[in-house]
Amino acid sequence: MKTLSGLSLQEIEKITDELGVTKFRARQIHNWIYLKSVTEIDEMTDLSIKFREELKKVAKITDIKIKVKQVSSDGTIKYLLEFPDGECVETVLMRFDNRANLTACVSSQVGCAVNCSFCATGKRGFIRNLSYQEIIEQVLTIQRDTGLKVTNVVFMGQGEPLLNLDNVLKAMEIFNENFQIGARRLTLSTSGIVPQIRRLADLDMQSTLALSLHASNHDTRLKLMPIEGKYNMDELHSALKYYVEKTGRRITIEYLLIKDLNDTVESAKQLAAYLKDIKCNINLIPYNPTEKNDYKRPSNNAIMKFKYLMEHAGKKVTVRLERGADIDAACGQLRGKV
Ligand code: SAH
Ligand code: SF4
Repeated sequence: MKTLSGLSLQEIEKITDELGVTKFRARQIHNWIYLKSVTEIDEMTDLSIKFREELKKVAKITDIKIKVKQVSSDGTIKYLLEFPDGECVETVLMRFDNRANLTACVSSQVGCAVNCSFCATGKRGFIRNLSYQEIIEQVLTIQRDTGLKVTNVVFMGQGEPLLNLDNVLKAMEIFNENFQIGARRLTLSTSGIVPQIRRLADLDMQSTLALSLHASNHDTRLKLMPIEGKYNMDELHSALKYYVEKTGRRITIEYLLIKDLNDTVESAKQLAAYLKDIKCNINLIPYNPTEKNDYKRPSNNAIMKFKYLMEHAGKKVTVRLERGADIDAACGQLRGKV
């Protein structure tokens, strides 16, 4: 039994070829799935009943179930989605009222092996990779449920996308071609898997690469992110330079601000020096509390001061708005709680 959601037109054509009908049927099925968001083959009313029966024998539309849906007071919606093997991931839809953008924050893995000390997802350990179809189904599910069209996708849910890169790249290609979401409206966020950053550079990726740096020196980063023991900040630095050179694209540096740990004037100075020769914007993320650690969110004053220092160093800086914190949908709070 094949799942149709997430397949490219060519892949659907393979199915219609096997059923001995024209390629035009594939185009119709493709439209029903991507433009009309149907969930049942019987809703594809421009296909003959006979053909629908044949199709139902070999394929179904979706494999995913909405297990829990929570709506935050700021309009953010968090879904807990379940796959047929019982594993769950979270997907978040964020709307910013002043803009027409609807951003889906998708998961790329169940759990995560990187195990950063501040992140709730890492606490679960790594369970499995998601297939490209499972990544795409997250966005299709949101569109079906809300009747809205997602305009941006960020890989900032559960998992490390660069450790599941083949599926992530395939999903991005399909977002691009089948959802008409431009490359620049797709963002990959990584904890810093150096060889894969170089691979993306060689592919001349035109989507946005966001790096979770979170520290201004090796010791602090190692404390926050064990991955620093494998790929340290020096190696990262040269990979980032290589990426910018190859793609011409500006990188987004994500920097988690934790009170008294990496939010000091000295940290800001070190960070400015580290990023001096890297074309980047900085996104400051005030820490969102999760269970089981005693990190604290800095005061607004400390956040603004850090922002000022980075701007003074010539960088464009944004402070990430916290979305959906009342439903644990903010960054780092996702962990597939059931
Ligand atoms: N694994 C990838 C993408 C998923 S995490 C990565 O780490 O980049 C998405 C973002 O949320 C990352 O920048 C991550 O560092 C951040 N994050 C994790 N835990 C957080 C927390 N408790 N508060 C705020 N941001 C957090
Ligand atoms: Fe994994 Fe990203 Fe969480 Fe680190 S922050 S544990 S890389 S999901």
